[in-house]
Amino acid sequence: MRVLVVEDEVGIAQFISQGLSEAGYAVDMTNDGQSGLDYALAAEYDIIVLDIMLPQMDGLQLLRKMRSQGIKTPVLLLTARDGIEDRVKGLDAGADDYLSKPFAFPELLARLRALLRRPNLQQDTILKVGDLEMDVATREVRRAGKTITLSPREFTLLEYFMRHPRQVLTRTQIIEHTWNFDFYENSNVIDVYVGYLRRKIDQGFDKPLLKTVRGVGYRLSADITDD
Ligand code: CA
Repeated sequence: MRVLVVEDEVGIAQFISQGLSEAGYAVDMTNDGQSGLDYALAAEYDIIVLDIMLPQMDGLQLLRKMRSQGIKTPVLLLTARDGIEDRVKGLDAGADDYLSKPFAFPELLARLRALLRRPNLQQDTILKVGDLEMDVATREVRRAGKTITLSPREFTLLEYFMRHPRQVLTRTQIIEHTWNFDFYENSNVIDVYVGYLRRKIDQGFDKPLLKTVRGVGYRLSADITDD
C-alpha cells in the first residue's frame, strides 16, 4: 500500500515515515501543503496522512482542494490534542479519520488498516486467495498452512495482489500502489520482485497462483481455468 505523509515537523515526519516503511508501506513524504497537493494529484495513493498546520497551504485547504478535484483517497488527519474545532472542520472537509498528537505508532498503524478496509477494498484483515492466506494485522502469510516469510516490500506487493484477486494488474498500477517515487527510475523492479514473490509463494506448491499476463502485467488467482 502506498502512503503520502504531509507533515512539516521533521521529527514527527521521520518517525511516521520510518515506521511505515518498516511496516511495509511505500511512503512518500512532503512538508508543505502545496507540494502535498501536487503529490496527491500526481500519484494514486491508497491513503494520506495529513497534518493540519502546514506552511503555504494548510491541511484543511489541501483536503478541500483534493476532494474538489475528485480525489477520494482516505485521509487520516493529524490534529492537536485540544483541536476539537479542527477535527470537526476536518471531517466536514472530507477527512475519514483523525489522530491527535502525540500518538502511539501502533495506533496510527491500526487506524490506517481500518481506513484501508473501507469500500472498494476487501473488508477483512485476513485476505485469502486459494490456499494462500495473509493476516494484514499480524503480518503473517501462509500457504496450505505453511508459514511464508516475506520482506516488507514483498509483503506490500503481495498485499496489493491479494486485495485485487483475479484482476489483471499492469506494471504501472502495481508500481503506483506499492512503490514510492524513489523507485520510479526502474520499472523492471516489478518483474524482479514478482520473481522473488513467486519463489516464496508458488515454488514447491502444485498450482501457481501468481500468473503472468503477457504484454499486460500480472494476476493472482486460484482459478484452474486460467492456466
Ligand atoms: Ca504542523
